[in-house]
Amino acid sequence: MLMLLRDAELYAPEPLGRVDLLLAGGKVAAIGRDLSAPPPGWPCQEHHLDGALVVPGLVDCHTHLDGGGGEAGAHTRVPALQLSQLSRAGVTTAIGLLGTDCSTRSIASLLATARGLSHFGLTALCYTGGYRVPPLTLLGSAREDIALVDRIVAVGELALSDHRSSQPTFDELVRVASDAHVAGLMTGKAGLLHLHLGDGARGLSLIRRALDETELPPRTFHPTHVNRNRSLWAEAQDIVSRGVSVDLTAFPDATGEPTAAEDLVAWVAAGLPLDRLTMSSDGGGCLPDFDAQGELLRMDVGSSAALLHALRGAVALGLPLDQALLPITLNPARLFRLHGKGQVAVGADADLLLLDRDLQARGLIAGGRWLLKEGEPVVWGPFEAPAG
Ligand SMILES: [Zn+2]
Repeated sequence: MLMLLRDAELYAPEPLGRVDLLLAGGKVAAIGRDLSAPPPGWPCQEHHLDGALVVPGLVDCHTHLDGGGGEAGAHTRVPALQLSQLSRAGVTTAIGLLGTDCSTRSIASLLATARGLSHFGLTALCYTGGYRVPPLTLLGSAREDIALVDRIVAVGELALSDHRSSQPTFDELVRVASDAHVAGLMTGKAGLLHLHLGDGARGLSLIRRALDETELPPRTFHPTHVNRNRSLWAEAQDIVSRGVSVDLTAFPDATGEPTAAEDLVAWVAAGLPLDRLTMSSDGGGCLPDFDAQGELLRMDVGSSAALLHALRGAVALGLPLDQALLPITLNPARLFRLHGKGQVAVGADADLLLLDRDLQARGLIAGGRWLLKEGEPVVWGPFEAPAG
């Protein structure tokens, strides 16, 4: 089935103005003004978008697809994400991971959840591992998991500078990083080590030491939650000059704290390299606050919807839409070597997000299939009830 989208205002993410898009076989087949319709007899759906914004489907590179949490007892284990939680958030590519709980959760279950979501047109991939070292794996080592399991692309989120970390030594850390890097070379996958950073004073010190003392390329290390406190944020701004990409978490806005949108805008205003910045949601993960003794004070749950919330915030603060899109589209796609993702281009995957002028998700096409129309899902997972 062909699909012809008429009169879209395209941000690819670069602004390309008012164009038509032809989709075929799950790919973008043509982009241009006044594209001629396919010959009579060719099956083609035509949709008039009347100047609606079309941007790449979002790439969420840190989401607990199979659920996270459990840090305040088994009753706080977050359930697996439903299809509509991702489609309403405009996400067409999600990379799922395990966090603190590597005991009651498994890579096999995460993999099955990702495979299930992919059934509907999403691209759902996985990390192997979790907070712990040695990493929890499917086949016995992180290297084999990436080398042999198609959907597994990287290692993470391995925890550093956090009371929930398994406190890896330097040698243990770089051994895991080397497994990720070499498996990436063998397969063309991301092959990186995605690192959960806590509030600990050691911050990014182990990563800096790895850059100083090993041959591992800087792209191997991808620290996340770097905006969780100001000293870590300062370290993150510094380490990008050494070639490391860092990941901002779209934490829920909290009074008195800079928002993810403000941090993104400040990053650009400071002249820092925007291509070294990704932003992810921590969807399905718990966002706990602990006291100095490691006792839980309160807990929130992350959502992929935080990505569009941060995008709207950044644009409201004056960041051009094409720049605000980069950390949630092209930048993670490039870092994770996801060719054909994070951009709208001829030959790229037909993953398109339609936004209204308030930057709310109105439509979503994943792999050439509609998942969202008029802001509402048109496809539901088998275990979620359509509203009404
Ligand atoms: Zn984390």
